[in-house]
Amino acid sequence: MDTVHVQGLRCRECGREYDAAPIYTCEWCFGPLEVAYDYAAITRATSREKIAAGPSSLWRYGDLLPVQGDTAVDLGTGFTPLVRADRLAAELGLGEVWVKNDTRNPTNSFKDRVVSVALSKALEFGFKVAACASTGNLANSVAAHAARAGLRSYVFIPSNLEQGKIVTTSVYGGNVVAINGNYDDVNRLCAELADVYEWAFVNVNMRPYYAEGSKTLAFETAEQLGWQAPDHVVVPVASGSLLTKIRKGFDELYKVGLLDDEPRVRVSGAQALGCSPVATAYLEQSDTIRPVKPDTIAKSLAIGNPADGYFALDVVRTTGGGFSAVTDDEVVEGMRLLARTEGIFGETAGGVTIATLKNLAAEGVIRPDERVVVYITGHGLKTLEAVSPTCGPTATIAPTLDAFHEAFEVEKDV
Ligand SMILES: [Zn+2]
Repeated sequence: MDTVHVQGLRCRECGREYDAAPIYTCEWCFGPLEVAYDYAAITRATSREKIAAGPSSLWRYGDLLPVQGDTAVDLGTGFTPLVRADRLAAELGLGEVWVKNDTRNPTNSFKDRVVSVALSKALEFGFKVAACASTGNLANSVAAHAARAGLRSYVFIPSNLEQGKIVTTSVYGGNVVAINGNYDDVNRLCAELADVYEWAFVNVNMRPYYAEGSKTLAFETAEQLGWQAPDHVVVPVASGSLLTKIRKGFDELYKVGLLDDEPRVRVSGAQALGCSPVATAYLEQSDTIRPVKPDTIAKSLAIGNPADGYFALDVVRTTGGGFSAVTDDEVVEGMRLLARTEGIFGETAGGVTIATLKNLAAEGVIRPDERVVVYITGHGLKTLEAVSPTCGPTATIAPTLDAFHEAFEVEKDV
C-alpha cells in the first residue's frame, strides 16, 4: 500500500464534502459522514492479481481502504475461511450455503476488521489514546489493537456483559470502564467524552473510517467465490453499519472493475426479538425506527437505537431481502444447529443469523436456487452462558467397560 485514494469525507444525507479529519457528523444537516474515494484512481491501481499477491489479511484490499500502509495496526485480521455448508443447507431445504467464519479473527470477531482500520487511521492522525463504546466484541478488539499499537485505551461497556467478554478485554491491560446502563447509555456518554478528550473513539469520531473495515467481508466473500458475488447474504444487525457496508463492498468491487457482472445481492437482516427495532420497522412496513430497550441474550446485537438502522432498512428493502426477529430460544437453537451441522461455534449473534436463515428459508424469502452466504461474526466461547444450560456431558460414568456398556448401547463394529 503506497497511496490512499481518499478524496475526503462526504455527508450521507446532503452530500456536502469535508477534508479527511477525525469528524463524523455534517455541520449543516447533522447527517453521518462517509469516506469518499477516487474510484478512477483505484481502478487503475488495483487488480485481482495484485490482491492475490498481497498479505493473507484484510490489508490485501488496501487500495479500497482509507489508510496508509505504513501506519497499519496489524494483528493478522481478515481473510477468514468461507466454508461450504452442505449439511446445514440440507437441513434447511436450501441449495448452496456458505458460512463466512469470522470467529477466526485475532480477537475472535469481525470487529477486528473495523478496529484495524480505525486505529491505523488514529495513528495517522497522531492520537495517543484509543477508546470505544462497546457491547463486548469491540471492547476486546480495541484493547488488543491498542496494546499492539502502543496506544493507551479506555473501553466503555454495559456492566451486565458476559464474563468472557470482560476478561478478554481487561487482559490486554487498558482501562475497562463498566457503566451501570445499557449500550445506548454507554454510547451517549462516549459522545460527550469525545467532545472533552482528544481521543480516538473508534465508533464516534473515527466512525467514518472504522465503518469502512466492514467492507472487507464483502471483498473476501467475492474473491473466495472466484470473483463472483453471492445471490443472497444474511447479516446480523446491531447498529446496521455492517449490513450497509457489506452491500457497499460488493458494489465497489464492480465499480473498480474487480467483478465482471453488476452484483445483484439480496441482503437480509437478522435481529433478536428482544432488540429488533429495524426488523420491526421492516415487518410493519414503516420508515420510522422506534428505539427500544434491549432485552435479549444476544448482547452483541443489543443496540436499541441503531445509528445506521435507517440505511440498513433501506438496503434490505431495495435489494429484495427479508428480515427476521428471533426469540432467545431460537438463538440457542441456531448456535447449536451451526455447531452440530458444520463444526463452527458462533456466539449468540451467530445464533440470531442462523435462526434467521432458517426462518427466511421456511418463508421462501431465501430460495434453494440461490447461492447464500451467512456471516458468523463472533466466537461462541465469548457467550458460553447462552448454551451452557443445554450443553454438558452425555453421561458421567465410572472408569470401567461395564459402566460404559450400561450407559451406551453401541454396536461393536460401528
Ligand atoms: Zn449534511
